[in-house]
Amino acid sequence: MTQNQAIENLDKIITKIEFSRLQVSDHHIVQLVAISKYSEASDIKTLYEAGQRAFGENKVQDLKEKQEILKDLPIAWHFVGSLQKNKINNLIDCNPSLMHSLDSLELAQELDKKLKVKNKTMRCLLQINSAYEESKSGVDPKEAVSIYKQIQEKYTNIKLQGIMSIGAHSEDSTKILESFQITRAIFNQCDGATICSMGMSGDFELAIANGSNMIRVGSALFK
Ligand SMILES: *Cc1c(COP(=O)(O)O)cnc(C)c1O
Repeated sequence: MTQNQAIENLDKIITKIEFSRLQVSDHHIVQLVAISKYSEASDIKTLYEAGQRAFGENKVQDLKEKQEILKDLPIAWHFVGSLQKNKINNLIDCNPSLMHSLDSLELAQELDKKLKVKNKTMRCLLQINSAYEESKSGVDPKEAVSIYKQIQEKYTNIKLQGIMSIGAHSEDSTKILESFQITRAIFNQCDGATICSMGMSGDFELAIANGSNMIRVGSALFK
């Protein structure tokens, strides 16, 4: 990918975000997290220089390597992948600015335990399987509000900021819409939640129209 291509992609996406968010309200601010999992550190640097500050990875090892290469840049690193138990300590050591993929009470318990040992906290989102797809991680939408509350009460080194979900994997936009509406309804019921992370390259405009305030865009930026 050439530098010009990356910046052109970023500009196009920002224009689309701007249009979509203004349909919701003048005050509906949407944060763009550039998902760099298929990209090189040099592409991240190009977008950084164009003004992008938040980047996300889905593997702890990749996050660690890219952080190391780009350590001189004040990037906000996000983690969006499934976290295996044996990688929890490694993720804590990366100090992510936000972890989007807390996908079970069990993981919350383990993460909290390891955070306490290191005397650290982590900002996290509860991942919800709003499309009810077996291939996807996340808690059952019917239990999400209760799990959110339990994590807030019991696992005090986890600082829950809101929720995350991946839209339905479908060509049928009504299915995608439905999964976003389910996510948004849960978001509204979670006390203190401020971040609703939903929307990717193929569906972020629909996600914003349905209340998303953080989108995770990979392929549309880095192609
Ligand atoms: C890869 C990934 C994205 C970005 O997907 P694109 O379709 O490439 O924009 C967003 N969220 C998560 C959790 C991902 O793993």
